[in-house]
Amino acid sequence: MFHWRADILPGVSAAFTDAGAGNLALHVGDDPARVMARRSRLEESIGALPGSLCFMNQVHGTAVALMGRDSPVPEADAMVSRGLPLAVMVADCIPVILAGESGDGPVLAAVHAGRPGTADGVLPAAVDAMKSLGASRIRAWLGPSICGACYEVPAALRDEVAAKVPATWSTTSWGTPGLDLPAGARSQLEAAGVEVAYSGPCTLETQSLYSYRRDRNTGRFAGLVWCHD
Ligand SMILES: [Zn+2]
Repeated sequence: MFHWRADILPGVSAAFTDAGAGNLALHVGDDPARVMARRSRLEESIGALPGSLCFMNQVHGTAVALMGRDSPVPEADAMVSRGLPLAVMVADCIPVILAGESGDGPVLAAVHAGRPGTADGVLPAAVDAMKSLGASRIRAWLGPSICGACYEVPAALRDEVAAKVPATWSTTSWGTPGLDLPAGARSQLEAAGVEVAYSGPCTLETQSLYSYRRDRNTGRFAGLVWCHD
């Protein structure tokens, strides 16, 4: 069920699921009842209350939603909470988990960092939102995503994104223009004073993870962060 799972702060854990947890997204043509059953199983496995895991409608933007107990599902690509469990879904984009400490306990974030979001700064926006809640010593965990040697794009697109985030400029293993989103994310986080504590493998090269570039008609796996006793 989990590709990776670890305690990241006292009382706080994070994980990235694999295909064993099944597709967790409602927008990819899967049976909604089955998706909800998988989400329930996931909540049970992390000890979260039924229905407590916050998901978002991801739109490749930079909006950051501050999540409270009764918040509706936001249209956003980043969520921040003071301990409510958060989930981000991906299949090649980077699922980024962030956690920091504040006088009022941990401040958590889950971010969907794809190409447009990374270019437009969804990660710095999420870090700013965490800091506005008093978070310090923020660290980041970058889940599995397509790597710079596999993510081929037209040359003009590479130029456009690299003009905003220079570290994304890459060349694929077959010598064509590419984008290295994890390198770009790392550069943005480090510029914001955030230490990257973990970086996952390439989704396209790892069969146990969903990859849109490899399979087009595919599910979504998730990055998760939650509090526990
Ligand atoms: Zn790769």
